[in-house]
Amino acid sequence: MHETVVAENVLRTILEHAEKLKARPVRAVVSCGQFNALNEEAMKFAFETAAAGTVCQGMLLQIRQIPLRASCRACRTLFELNLMTPLCPQCRSEDFDIEPDAPLLLEEIEFEDKQ
Ligand SMILES: [Zn+2]
Repeated sequence: MHETVVAENVLRTILEHAEKLKARPVRAVVSCGQFNALNEEAMKFAFETAAAGTVCQGMLLQIRQIPLRASCRACRTLFELNLMTPLCPQCRSEDFDIEPDAPLLLEEIEFEDKQ
């Protein structure tokens, strides 16, 4: 399953940072595009399973879905593409270029403050 592999990679990266900083991670944010979208439930479950017994156990994982964007060739508006109604919201043109999909990214890791 896609989420299991992603969760393991994310966990490994967080553990490396935690090791370097000698701090306990409390929260992380992962963002993804539409073509590599993550199922939030599956991702959280996979992460919790992978994190069990590590310093990451019990930390909060947040997933940010980045919408697909397109730029209109007629009026050059940059807009969020709705796949149900693929039209430029400004001029209703169907002539647009789809921007590159957002990559899967570990955006942020928050560590516990050392007392
Ligand atoms: Zn337009």
